[in-house]
Amino acid sequence: MTFMQALPNRHLRSVAILGSTGSIGTQALEVIRQNPERFRVSVLTAQSNASLLINQALEFKPDCVVIGIESKCREIELALKSLNIPVLCGLDDLNEVVARPEIDIVLTALVGFAGLRPTLAAIKAGKDIALANKETLVVAGELVTSLANKHQVKILPVDSEHSAIFQCLAGEENNPIEKIYLTASGGPFRGKSLNFLSSVTKNEALKHPNWVMGAKITIDSASLMNKGLEVIEAKWLFNLQPSQIDVIVHPQSVVHSIVQFTDGSMKAQMGVPDMKLPIQYALAYPERIKNNFPRFNFLHYPNLSFEPADTQTFKNLALAYEALHSGGNMPCVINAANEVVVAEFLNNRLGFLQMSEVIESCMSKISFLSNPTLQDYMETDSETRSYAKHLVTNL
Ligand code: NAD
Ligand code: MG
Repeated sequence: MTFMQALPNRHLRSVAILGSTGSIGTQALEVIRQNPERFRVSVLTAQSNASLLINQALEFKPDCVVIGIESKCREIELALKSLNIPVLCGLDDLNEVVARPEIDIVLTALVGFAGLRPTLAAIKAGKDIALANKETLVVAGELVTSLANKHQVKILPVDSEHSAIFQCLAGEENNPIEKIYLTASGGPFRGKSLNFLSSVTKNEALKHPNWVMGAKITIDSASLMNKGLEVIEAKWLFNLQPSQIDVIVHPQSVVHSIVQFTDGSMKAQMGVPDMKLPIQYALAYPERIKNNFPRFNFLHYPNLSFEPADTQTFKNLALAYEALHSGGNMPCVINAANEVVVAEFLNNRLGFLQMSEVIESCMSKISFLSNPTLQDYMETDSETRSYAKHLVTNL
């Protein structure tokens, strides 16, 4: 045995992937598949896609898996019996599994408010977080970031814009930020009028020009709510004031975001639109790992363009800034209302423009709390959901 082989493998990171069957989850597994000497899978979780979860477990041999829908548990147990992989079920198990001692980093790749409690549980257990689930920071940014400071865990952004900012800030720890520019593709309806938007269909909204993602974030991108949620996410990740966060529409999605420092100098992070890169950066941080992902070719992008965001037509972005300014439980209200309206839009029960109307009504109806606790967030979330559903039913 050589000296190198005798050393313990300090670089092998054990990763728990919450939401392994989704767009981010499957791309994270691609990164892990290409780097078996760097990462191993400790936990895989999914809400309902039992067959993909089984295939992933057979390939990556995790220490355990969690399925959200309890009726699917037996099927998975049978399939994984020969490998002795324990199968856990339901929300409570999801909240507990993140504390397993062998886990180094938890990738939160599940959708929506459901990410909040497992993320808090992982932080309390001292696990670093690779955060894709932006809704968690939108809902409870103060709670999450203060808990992360207390337990000295890192929150490493996976969202491409925030990964870009994070990469631009490397080596700039003592240099104040003047402002950041979050880039937005503008989505499939960039440049369209309110009249046009009044009759767009779910299938049109699901056709994103640059990224293939889960359904919820794809609708959020079409309505610009995704950028609104990202503005709030950026506040908490980088400790910024609302006036320091600008959005600029950049249809090519090549400049992933920009930091402007106090001397006016700007740093941007660029690359082809491919989520595997920010996922890998978060999982391997602070190292960069060689890979064979497609490289950028300037000749394929002779023109990079930039334009203002149209907040008159895409009201959700303006509403998100309003929620950010209000603070307290208002971002939680906007998130819950948005989760309801997106689901209703995807079920063809609500028009595209009605999504903003319902969100705005929820923001003026739900009681404002300036210093919410976790319990308050849970209550705000469920009250807002009920009210939003009531509005949709009575439209
Ligand atoms: P997705 O719908 O493709 O996958 C979601 C995953 O979470 C699935 O594995 C699903 O089983 C699981 N899940 C869904 N609801 C759940 C629940 N209630 N409880 C437990 N698990 C649940 O979504 P996605 O596009 O991969 O997005 C995941 C998160 O990452 C979102 O917060 C999204 O905003 C963020 N994000 C995604 C992208 C992207 O390119 N897809 C980019 C940036 C940020
Ligand atoms: Mg993004």
